[in-house]
Amino acid sequence: MIEHDVVIVGAGLAGMRCALEVCKELDVAVLTKVYPSRSHSGAAQGGIAASLGNSEPDSWEEHMYDTVKGGDFLNDQDAVEEYVKAAPRVIYELEHMGCVFSRTPEGKIAQRSFGGHSKPRACFSADRTGHAILHALHEQLMKNSKSVKIYNEWYMHSLVVDGDRCNGVIVSNIQTGEVEVIRAKAVVFCTGGYGRVFKITSNAFASTADGVMAAFEVGIPLEDPEFVQFHPSGLYRQGILFSEAARGEGGFLLNGKGERFMEAYAPSRMELAPRDIVARAEQSEMDAGRGVNGEDCIHLDLRHLGEARIMERLPQIRQLGIDFIGVDCVKDPLPIQPTAHYSMGGIPVDMNCHVILDSEGTKMNGFFAAGECACVSVHGGNRLGTNSLLDAVVFGERAGKSVLDYARGKDFGNVNEGREKARVLEKFEDIFQRDGSESYNQIRDEMKEIMMTNCGVFRDEERLKDCIETLKGLRERFKKGKVTDKGKLFNTEIYEIMELGNMLGMAVIIATAALRRQESRGGHFRTDFPKRDDEKFLHHSMVYDSPDGLDIKTKPVVITKYQPAERTY
Ligand SMILES: Cc1cc2nc3c(=O)[nH]c(=O)nc-3n(C[C@H](O)[C@H](O)[C@H](O)COP(=O)(O)OP(=O)(O)OC[C@H]3O[C@@H](n4cnc5c(N)ncnc54)[C@H](O)[C@@H]3O)c2cc1C
Repeated sequence: MIEHDVVIVGAGLAGMRCALEVCKELDVAVLTKVYPSRSHSGAAQGGIAASLGNSEPDSWEEHMYDTVKGGDFLNDQDAVEEYVKAAPRVIYELEHMGCVFSRTPEGKIAQRSFGGHSKPRACFSADRTGHAILHALHEQLMKNSKSVKIYNEWYMHSLVVDGDRCNGVIVSNIQTGEVEVIRAKAVVFCTGGYGRVFKITSNAFASTADGVMAAFEVGIPLEDPEFVQFHPSGLYRQGILFSEAARGEGGFLLNGKGERFMEAYAPSRMELAPRDIVARAEQSEMDAGRGVNGEDCIHLDLRHLGEARIMERLPQIRQLGIDFIGVDCVKDPLPIQPTAHYSMGGIPVDMNCHVILDSEGTKMNGFFAAGECACVSVHGGNRLGTNSLLDAVVFGERAGKSVLDYARGKDFGNVNEGREKARVLEKFEDIFQRDGSESYNQIRDEMKEIMMTNCGVFRDEERLKDCIETLKGLRERFKKGKVTDKGKLFNTEIYEIMELGNMLGMAVIIATAALRRQESRGGHFRTDFPKRDDEKFLHHSMVYDSPDGLDIKTKPVVITKYQPAERTY
């Protein structure tokens, strides 16, 4: 059995920032199924929010209000306050760690506009912000390599739980196929989002719900899973992201008639309204037959910005257009459509990243979560752009501090190594022995398709019920699949099947919570209940597993400074 004081699953911004904190005092393992710098955080383009006030006067109060309004008042405001207050400090810390930010002519950290933020607040490194921060953190971890061990290309399968205490994780080495138990005094999940559940998504291949489903499997509820963000500018038919920075720098959105249609939906913020509003506006234009060339597509027009500005501020976006569809945005508009982008919901945690089991805040001892897999909830029903990198860094650090307080001086818990290993070995055997006729690839495609059409930007009762039925059928077919590679070494097929199992489970949870929430709020829009209903639904959803299927309870929203108001832009 492997032993470490603390094990962190995930090496994106949240996991690495957490590890930097924990390694100051304890021995820490960071486990990741992809090489650390390939974590999805590295794909983040546009920026990280903080009220530095470098181009216009700004304050944490304004950042807080924008965040709460953007989240359609479902955010827990005590957590939002701590988080926006911490933002300027964490930006300067990242700068001092070696993160290279773009600059103003006088040498300050430059800040650009972003959707839903009333001030230019996004600190950025051209359009490669996540890459810059991820590499700075990775270098810092390398510097501390004596107390940090990184398990590259290892897969976490399950949690080891004894009563109300978490004692480790069951993992396997993707290269060799060996299953191991890691015993730890505390476990931190930083496993990212689950956008791969949808057909059109900006998310990396690794964003597959393993962490949230491993938590769910041991009885932890999932909070607000119905809130999924669709980003307005995914590459047409592929979903690859063109950052909102393109609109922050002044890009236009045009329908098939060449009109800047946002005038009709958010006249004061136009293209820089929050993402949920822009994505719905695009979908409405397309549904009304006003897409480009009669198709499900909108134009992102950057031509008026000129080549020099595009090359200085948006070089990656230009290259993506050229590489993937042969369109140079200096000369032609880019074809786009809404793309599944961010998971507002996740593993419920308190403000100190301790995983909780219910609305009373009962803790699961030794289990913490941070970053996109966790729901604090600072983003409420809809996250503002640039607030997620901030979430990962602020709460990654906070999780690290909480873990130290918890694990310092603690003994290891009891772990029955044989029994725990057997649980996961059985999962492998079960898949290897199936000799059915179903194709896992086909099942995956059908899941993605139905989630996109029936549980996407617009939802209603009929489509959601149909979606849940279809998913149930797919889960049955999943048990009758056939694996072609039965080897142990680098068997990526078997891992893709495990990920698919997790995504199917997550898809049912998303659709079921969406069916219960009979209102429209943030990223969740019901055409049959188009208004927000604070009387009935101003609460978080808490989805539990039960012998009779999914059981949805509620958790109150923490409201401190800002009372819910109508959300107009
Ligand atoms: C294209 C794109 C652009 C974005 N741009 C921005 C932006 O400009 N600003 C902003 O604020 N936000 C942006 N976001 C959102 C933001 O990047 C993410 O929410 C954030 O980086 C998530 O960080 P994380 O550390 O929680 O998870 P991730 O960076 O997703 O890392 C997850 C980690 O978990 C590991 N993992 C998962 N499952 C397992 C398993 N079973 N076993 C072992 N390891 C596992 C992975 O290997 C990985 O290391 C963007 C997102 C996308 C997709």
